[in-house]
Amino acid sequence: MKILVLLKEVPVVSEIRINRQYLTIDRSGVGKMMNPADRHAVEAALVLANARGGEVTAITMGPESSESILREAVSLGVKSAYRLTDKAFAGADTLATATILKAAIDATGPYDAVFCGASSIDGVTGQIPAKLGTMLGYGILTNACKIEIGDEGMTIDRKAGTGYEKLTAAFPLVCSVTEDANTPRKPSIKGRTASKKLVVEVMDNEKLQIPAESLKSPSKVIGLFPPPALEKGQMIPGEDPEAAVAELVELLQEQAAF
Ligand SMILES: Cc1cc2nc3c(=O)[nH]c(=O)nc-3n(C[C@H](O)[C@H](O)[C@H](O)COP(=O)(O)OP(=O)(O)OC[C@H]3O[C@@H](n4cnc5c(N)ncnc54)[C@H](O)[C@@H]3O)c2cc1C
Repeated sequence: MKILVLLKEVPVVSEIRINRQYLTIDRSGVGKMMNPADRHAVEAALVLANARGGEVTAITMGPESSESILREAVSLGVKSAYRLTDKAFAGADTLATATILKAAIDATGPYDAVFCGASSIDGVTGQIPAKLGTMLGYGILTNACKIEIGDEGMTIDRKAGTGYEKLTAAFPLVCSVTEDANTPRKPSIKGRTASKKLVVEVMDNEKLQIPAESLKSPSKVIGLFPPPALEKGQMIPGEDPEAAVAELVELLQEQAAF
């Protein structure tokens, strides 16, 4: 089987500062890491490769620093890695990003399965997996909390309200993976050696040949605003729990909460 995992380099959230004047993220001097859900996508891809035979490739679109997450994936068992970069890819929204990733999949695939994180911790749209699956015409399994591998495809459990939905798709498919899906393995010594020797293949638009028209980002940021401040909570003091509950119910009824 030919299996792909898509990896995104994201800022270390605890180090991010917000520019209060422009409400933008100040990324200067902020550390970078592999998007947390992508670690679980790597694990799911390696489990499938072990179960069905085959190799896992990793692709990221990002600056040179993002090669470190490709090396990390190779230390875990991924065999080859591509980085997509071009001036024409700058400022890509989710549609343009999915278009670029699809072009890379066409150039390096076809793949039987493409694994992604369920969503990134910086963009947080969760749109890439479904957009990509639609563009590729593959089966789409999103937000997998549990993955079962079958002969012809995969079945996932997806959180839906207080329960789970079971969804099945045949190969080829795109599957987005949550942090509940598995426990990522640790790097092996063999993997660490392979990651040091890894030659990342860099692909620009001369290689991918995506028409300028398809790289346009239709979404526009028209405004930024902080979320409303949380209202101050109200404490109900007292020793008697029953009296406190009665007072709470009265207060909620007054405020027409139920
Ligand atoms: C109008 C607009 C302008 C933007 N301009 C910029 C900009 O100038 N610079 C910038 O850095 N971002 C920009 N972005 C953000 C950029 O669109 C997103 O980072 C990107 O489209 C991925 O979206 P997401 O993080 O929400 O992905 P999600 O759908 O939340 O990610 C899910 C999974 O998809 C995969 N994935 C996502 N992104 C990548 C990637 N790059 N490579 C490989 N796999 C990936 C990963 O497996 C990830 O876990 C812009 C967004 C908008 C709407």
